[in-house]
Amino acid sequence: MIVNGAGGCFENRFYELNITDAWNMTLQTLNDMGVQVDSWDEENHLVQFHNVKKQMQIVIRQIDEETIEVAMDSRGKRLLIYCWHKENKEVEMFFEFFENRLHDFRAYVICPTCGRQISAFASICPDCGQKILHVK
Ligand SMILES: [Zn+2]
Repeated sequence: MIVNGAGGCFENRFYELNITDAWNMTLQTLNDMGVQVDSWDEENHLVQFHNVKKQMQIVIRQIDEETIEVAMDSRGKRLLIYCWHKENKEVEMFFEFFENRLHDFRAYVICPTCGRQISAFASICPDCGQKILHVK
């Protein structure tokens, strides 16, 4: 669900993902975005951050055994009462970067020597030391 409001935006998306991996990926994504982190609460999976214009937060919740929810809220530092153009730039950017990371996280190849599943970005198999050639 995406909600655009005066100077702000809320969006939540659902993923089949371990909550600890989602949390780590979220912190890496914030690093990619170059925002300033104000506080993070590892126990409740809540992180608050900002850039020049927006105050933002993300919370991750366990929905069921396999599903987590990632919800992001952003609002302008000043309330733009007469301005209704979309303010979803940061929210869109977060989910785009997050999903790129998720895609990389899930990408794997099979080592031709030992048959182990390894990251598609690995250059050497961690099990047998086989060099992995990537077809571009
Ligand atoms: Zn191997």
